[in-house]
Amino acid sequence: MPKSAYIHIPFCAHKCDFCDFAVVTNLESRIPEYCQTVAKEIRERLSNKESSSLDTVFYGGGTPGYIDPQELAQIHQTLIEYAGINKNAEVTLETTPNAITVEKASAWRDIGINRLSIGIESVNDHELTAMGRDHTRAQALLGVKAAQEAGFSNIAIDLMYGLPEQTLDSWQTCLEQTLSLGLPHLSAYALTLATNSPLLRRYPLGSPQMPDDDLSASMYEMLVDTALKAGLEQYEVSNFARPGFSSRHNLTYWQNDEYYGFGLSAHRYVDGTRSHNWRSFNRYLDDYLGHESLEVIDRETRVKEAIILGLRTTAGINLQEFETSYGVNLLSRFGEKIAEFTDQQLFYSSDNTLKLTRKGMLLSNLVLTEFV
Ligand code: SF4
Repeated sequence: MPKSAYIHIPFCAHKCDFCDFAVVTNLESRIPEYCQTVAKEIRERLSNKESSSLDTVFYGGGTPGYIDPQELAQIHQTLIEYAGINKNAEVTLETTPNAITVEKASAWRDIGINRLSIGIESVNDHELTAMGRDHTRAQALLGVKAAQEAGFSNIAIDLMYGLPEQTLDSWQTCLEQTLSLGLPHLSAYALTLATNSPLLRRYPLGSPQMPDDDLSASMYEMLVDTALKAGLEQYEVSNFARPGFSSRHNLTYWQNDEYYGFGLSAHRYVDGTRSHNWRSFNRYLDDYLGHESLEVIDRETRVKEAIILGLRTTAGINLQEFETSYGVNLLSRFGEKIAEFTDQQLFYSSDNTLKLTRKGMLLSNLVLTEFV
């Protein structure tokens, strides 16, 4: 039974030039209708369903921090009523820094939110402008301060690298200044450009302002070195945390556990089936129990997913535990591939556990597709 729930809040004050998420802008008048629909979806999906209380809840988007906290409260109350939320649950809300005020952050705490994930992306103003963000470095820092003033200490910062106009020096500055805030969690992802994004039109692939693959690789190396030096531990390819502050919600995904999903385009993995809701805003409102895709996960797919997700974590895959859970001996099944990657210093084994090396982490997207 899922013990995690993802709730998608698609509203944003502004559409960033690189964004390919399910996002809507200039539809503030429809926020109440949307939130009522999400609450209805929760009620109808969960009523008459045996469920266990949730250990993690994640409000993602979009910018959940943009909407009136009272609208969130309505959704959260429905989750409490129909699923139950454990006393020690991790309840995360994603937000842009400029959506945070002390009053709003206090209201989030009153609702039961105990972790913030703040998308700062960069602390260099010219990079923020280049990527079409609607906040400055100063606003980003003020947002973090407001969250702290309201009592949040479990704060995760998101950064991006491989940005237009970004250099190794500016990335170093960004990492050092962000880490000097002393926050317990950092995620950093390489920019991926959607085919139709305005950013790609402004900075076509190969344009001199865009870091090439070698520079992006150096940025990743710098990320790992700087985060470790600042006392964070790496627990996944792109995620770092102080002990006890790893994202429990994201670990649900990486451990291949089931989870609920509610809201526009939300993905779920329930009863061995992955599905996701309509991505069109109006279609979702009209048919909130419908789905855009549905896939029954057979045993073979489950095994492959567990390999790919497990290897992204620094804990790696314990071969004995994997065999007990999935009935597959990885050395018998993929012995040749594992030996080849070990020779290439992409994999290593310790205590019967298979892990990616630093080089393997850097090339993880390429390496892990070999198991698909
Ligand atoms: S704030 Fe986040 S979700 Fe909203 S448009 Fe920008 S990148 Fe996309």
